[in-house]
Amino acid sequence: AKTLGRNTYSFFTKAMNTQMLRRFKVEEQLHGALEREEFTLHYQPQIEVKTGKIIGAEALLRWHNPALGQVTPDEFIPIAEHSGLIVAIGKYVFNQALSFLKTWQSHTEKPYTMAINLSPRQFRDTELLNLLQDSLNKLNIDAQQIELEITEGLLLGDQTHIQQALQTINDLGFTLAMDDFGTGYSSLNYLRKYPFKTLKIDRSFIQGIALNTSDYNLVKATIAMSHSLDLTVIAEGVETQQQLAILSKLGCNTVQGYYFSKPILAAQLLELSTQQSAE
Ligand code: C2E
Ligand code: CA
Ligand code: CA
Ligand code: CA
Repeated sequence: AKTLGRNTYSFFTKAMNTQMLRRFKVEEQLHGALEREEFTLHYQPQIEVKTGKIIGAEALLRWHNPALGQVTPDEFIPIAEHSGLIVAIGKYVFNQALSFLKTWQSHTEKPYTMAINLSPRQFRDTELLNLLQDSLNKLNIDAQQIELEITEGLLLGDQTHIQQALQTINDLGFTLAMDDFGTGYSSLNYLRKYPFKTLKIDRSFIQGIALNTSDYNLVKATIAMSHSLDLTVIAEGVETQQQLAILSKLGCNTVQGYYFSKPILAAQLLELSTQQSAE
């Protein structure tokens, strides 16, 4: 039993070490990644269900590092968050996404919106909001056209501070979206308490709508509830025609997913929306 115990121990230690080593390497490379210009933004179009037209996009970060290769945001964002690097990275995201939005709007003369993900650490940094406001002024973009996506995880913590921060964001005119709706604990309470305008139904529910009645019913109820609260609904991760047909029937406002487009480069999005306007 003793030997087994020791083996089990060493098994876990090894697994843990591998995991910690990876984390360490990622964090090590993350320092200086901005300076080395290893980040790019991709944009995933958001489509209005009623018209089938692109009305905006979500900015999604990509990181390619020479030593690690392509690292997914699901891996590096939490590490950037933990180490505080997310603040500088977030600035980069804002700058890139807003300057692209400006180009996009002026080339097409359409009031496209840009959705930007905000993680908890960034949210606590008030300087970032000032920065966002400054660049809006400089670029002459309407704050309403910027949708800040936050998850429930961000809302855990000091409620007074959170209340104030969300109020500030709202007062500045930004649109607040609740991301990944349905995956956390007390989303309903947050919808009641805070000034959200948009609700994004998590991909995991959309995946099942054509396959099982419980996902279908949950999505149906979520859309109905959102509309009764005057919230716009975005379905994430729409991959099939069938899912789109169901969402359309249920009155979902906006869809986003591989069925229309993966996240793409700015130039590709420009081309896609120019094509669409010409139709
Ligand atoms: P998210 O905000 O929920 O973003 C949606 C994710 O779903 C993206 O993954 C997107 O590429 C993927 N997706 C979109 N449509 C489909 C589909 O039809 N099928 C499938 N299977 N997936 C789809 P991505 O780009 O890997 O980003 C993962 C997460 O990383 C994001 O989840 C977000 O939480 C975070 N993230 C990405 N960029 C940023 C950023 O600039 N700042 C912050 N704070 N977080 C970011
Ligand atoms: Ca998002
Ligand atoms: Ca999401
Ligand atoms: Ca997510």
